[in-house]
Order: sequence, then C-alpha cells, then structure tokens
Amino acid sequence: MEGGAGRHDRLAIEGGAPVRATYLPYGRQTVTDEDVASVVAVLRSDFLTTGPAIPRFEAEVARVAGTRHAVAVSNGTAGLDLMLRALGLERGAEVITTPLTFVASANAALYNGLRPVFADIDPQTLNIDPRSVAERITPRTKAILGVHFAGLPFEADAMAELSRDHGVVLLEDAAHALGATLRGRPVGSLGAAAEFSFHPVKHVATGEGGAVTTDDEGLAARVRLLRSHGIAIDASKRSGTTAGHYYEMTELGHNFRLTDMQAALGVSQMARLKPNLARREQIAASYRKALPAGFEHQAPRPGFGHAYHLFVVQLAEGAWRVDRDTVFRALRAENIGVNVHYPPVHLHPYYRTALGTRRGLCPHAEAVYERVLSLPMFHGMTDKDVEDVLAACAKVAARYGA
Ligand SMILES: *Cc1c(COP(=O)(O)O)cnc(C)c1O
Repeated sequence: MEGGAGRHDRLAIEGGAPVRATYLPYGRQTVTDEDVASVVAVLRSDFLTTGPAIPRFEAEVARVAGTRHAVAVSNGTAGLDLMLRALGLERGAEVITTPLTFVASANAALYNGLRPVFADIDPQTLNIDPRSVAERITPRTKAILGVHFAGLPFEADAMAELSRDHGVVLLEDAAHALGATLRGRPVGSLGAAAEFSFHPVKHVATGEGGAVTTDDEGLAARVRLLRSHGIAIDASKRSGTTAGHYYEMTELGHNFRLTDMQAALGVSQMARLKPNLARREQIAASYRKALPAGFEHQAPRPGFGHAYHLFVVQLAEGAWRVDRDTVFRALRAENIGVNVHYPPVHLHPYYRTALGTRRGLCPHAEAVYERVLSLPMFHGMTDKDVEDVLAACAKVAARYGA
C-alpha cells in the first residue's frame, strides 16, 4: 500500500491508527440557514400544523413523483399503513413483498390484518424478483408491494404486467428512492400508489415525515380522511344547513398528520433535491471506479435511474478470508460508519412466530444478507470523506482479502 511509514498498514482493529480521526456515519441530513429560517417563519405564524405549508410540500412531492396527488403524513410507516388501509382489502388477503427491506414494509400489511408473503430477490440487483413474485401469487394475493432497494427501481414494468394479469394492486415502497426513475418515469408513479419517507437518513429530511403519492383521486381522498381521525372536514356542510361547529367521523382513522414546521422544512429541502441526487451519483461513481475487487455493487442498468439512498456492497464470494462481520468491525474501527441493510424480515423472531416463516424461504435474500455492507452515502459527504472510505476499504481488503 502507498502511504508507507506503516500508518495505514496495521488495521485499527488490530491496534493501528484509524484511516480517519472522526466517525463518518453512513447517512446524515444537511440543514441550511434557509431551512432554519423557513421553520422559524412557521413558528411565528398562525399555524403550527395543517396550515399552508402542507399543500405546498404535497405539491412538491407530487411534482417529483409525477403524480396528481401527494398526501403528507407523520412518517413513512404511517404512509404505508394508510396506503394499504385505503385500498380496503379484505382481512387475510396476501401482500407480496421483499424480505430485504426495513420491517415497516411488511408490518404495514400486519397492521391491516393482511398477510405478508415474501418473494425472493435477484442477487444482482438486490430487488424483488418478478419471477419469484409470479411463483408466490395465489388467489388470495391482492397486492404486490415492491421496495426500490437502496434507491434502484425494482422491475416495475414486469410487476405491473403481473399485477394486471392477476388482478392485484401494485404498490411502491419508495422510501429509498425519491427522485429515482425507471425508463424516464419517476418512482412514485409506477403503481397504484407509493409511499415516501422523510426520515433524516433519506434524501429529504423533515425529522419524521412521509407521503403517499397516487393518481387515484379516491385513494388520495381516503388517505387524507384516514390521516385525520376519519373525520370529514367538508366546508360546505359546515356552512350549510348545519351550524359551524359540526363535523362527522365516517371511518376509524388516526392522527397521522405532519406539522407545518416539518412541511416547511420539507419544502426548503426539496429545493436542493436535484444537486443532492447529482452529488450522490458522483459519490457512487467514485466508489464504483475505485473499490477493490472484493466489493461488488449494484451495477448501473440502462433505463434505471438510481437515487442512491444507500451504496450497498456485497463481499465477493471467494475473495475474503474473513466473514462480513469481521469486515464490518474492521471498517468501523477505521471510523467508517458502515451498516447492514437488512436482516431479512422473515427471519425476525416476531415473523417466525406470527407467520411461521423460516430460513430457506428466500435463499437469495438470506445469502445476500450474510455478505452486504452499506458504505457511507449522503449528499453532504466531502471528497475527503469519500477518499477515506476508499482508503479504509483498500486497507481492510489488503489485510483480509483472499
Ligand atoms: C425508512 C423506510 C420506511 C419508512 O420509515 P419511517 O421511518 O417510518 O419514515 C419504510 N420502508 C423502508 C424501506 C424504509 O427504508
């Protein structure tokens, strides 16, 4: 290795000096002075919640998702929950999803008395494999919930065809993928409805926050109703024959509203989405170019516009003398905040008990889980941060590579 003098030779985990002195997390938001000012302006206004910032934020989300409607909600999980609830599927119906996702994707089915069914992934793209979905469709299947893993769109065209052939609804968990595109069409508009998250590690941060996007006016109206107790606020009714205090609850909804402070932060952050995505692509290109051979990654695919929420690498088979967890610990010791996305959902103790799922159900997802690492990826990373990640990967590969 270059650098000589031994500073980079001995791994930090073995007592050497780390590649960098401070810890680099795998994801981090940026908040500018303009962001702060926009939140402060709301704090000094008449509305702290459900005020004018909400429709402004919703219009921005709908514009980026390419849909007629966006409904802002308190977080992405609430969005998934309401998106499924608004469909009004009968209890016990099956929802096919991927096991390589955050638990929220499958939990949303359980909240609604639906049964998550796990289809396996394609080990190259790490996305749900339409062939596995086809195998797992039954007469009880009513929806397919794809997840655009790490920001790479799943095969939505093949999935849309499956959903048409079998009369099931195609939904997107687009929490990773704000700004991603498939053959020129924005993610969020590829199925009947989609959910986004604005958690701080995602592209746009509102603290907590989420949205449901759809072209279906009825579905959007139902999500709106359910986000606020199932209470219809119909101005014509209020000012008509009934007195001004009257309201009606027509469904059992929740309080899943976003505050105006959050929405204002979201609007302000949305203005930087384009450069944010461009910076992520730049970082990904540096990784793709310079990572040692032992680190495989999602290959760029023509027509697939990756939003790079995560940069996920797989430790190449036969290229290492140690397991993933050793590489993980070694990189963490170098102050590189790697992470693992995700433990397969069907192997969580809750799922094993509730659904009786076990190892062997999704062999690709299970094998991939043993080999994946997420490298730091966020738009605020400096070129030096990127160099540090690459230096640490090279250092660890030099020591532990086969
Ligand atoms: C972040 C995320 C969600 C929603 O998360 P919230 O924290 O509730 O906003 C859902 N699905 C996936 C895949 C996610 O990564």
